[in-house]
Amino acid sequence: MEPATLFAALSHYAAQQQWQYVYPVLSRRAQGLSLGINLHPNHACNWQCIYCQVHGLHRGHSPIINVPQLMDELQGCLQWLIDYLSSQGLLINAVVSDIAFAGDGEPTTSLQFPEAIEALATLLAAYPATQRPQSVRVITNGSQLHHGHVQHALRSLSMLHGEVWFKLDAGTDQEMLDINQTRLPVALHLQRLKTCCQYCRTWVQTAIVTRKTNHGLVTTPSLLPYIELLDKVKSEIAGVLLYGIARPGQQPLSSSIAPVSVMILEEYAETLRNAGYQVSVFA
Ligand code: SF4
Repeated sequence: MEPATLFAALSHYAAQQQWQYVYPVLSRRAQGLSLGINLHPNHACNWQCIYCQVHGLHRGHSPIINVPQLMDELQGCLQWLIDYLSSQGLLINAVVSDIAFAGDGEPTTSLQFPEAIEALATLLAAYPATQRPQSVRVITNGSQLHHGHVQHALRSLSMLHGEVWFKLDAGTDQEMLDINQTRLPVALHLQRLKTCCQYCRTWVQTAIVTRKTNHGLVTTPSLLPYIELLDKVKSEIAGVLLYGIARPGQQPLSSSIAPVSVMILEEYAETLRNAGYQVSVFA
């Protein structure tokens, strides 16, 4: 079954159910249908990435999450998938790529993130491997990895054979400010990436963009400082996911960036592959 067909049918069902925390998404990077978990229905994040596609994003605190309701929604989603797919002789793990903590804000800033991971582990234990999505992922900006409760949750994620996609869009402090709009020094971000790798299998995910600056068009992250950073975690990360901007960002500064060409994406990928990294590209 085509993921797009399943996505359309599940989206229709999800709209009827008015789920607050669970949403289906056709994911380029997950390469198929993903079941998203949104711990920030209030659209609050601690960063404001220039390319972010969240409408109405603002800096703010995480809301209180009704974790039992979240699990009810996910259980309802899995049951719908089982019923829908079994009528066609299919199993969930053949067609659903992952359950992904992503949503409209940074998932690890929610103090209930560990509780949600534990509840998910309990829920999934009730399903045979064939009737679960292929993976569980946490897509994070990595800013909370110094907190013990986040580390603990990622250890639990690891026990689910899950993985982390850790955002690294910059090679320098200035690029972190320009792209992610955070004053977090890149060296500290790298330390948090190293910490993340200790607890769970971790991929670096990097958005490559063209930016309008006073000096003309610039591709970010700058290749050399970016590779120098990666080299410090080379043996610890699983690999690198490089992606371009497929849809316009929804932030005030989004108009100052543009997608890079496939050629530039491939140039970055080739350089990394030649240096021994496992790389996937999503144009
Ligand atoms: S891309 Fe992610 S980390 Fe960046 S502002 Fe949007 S929700 Fe926050």
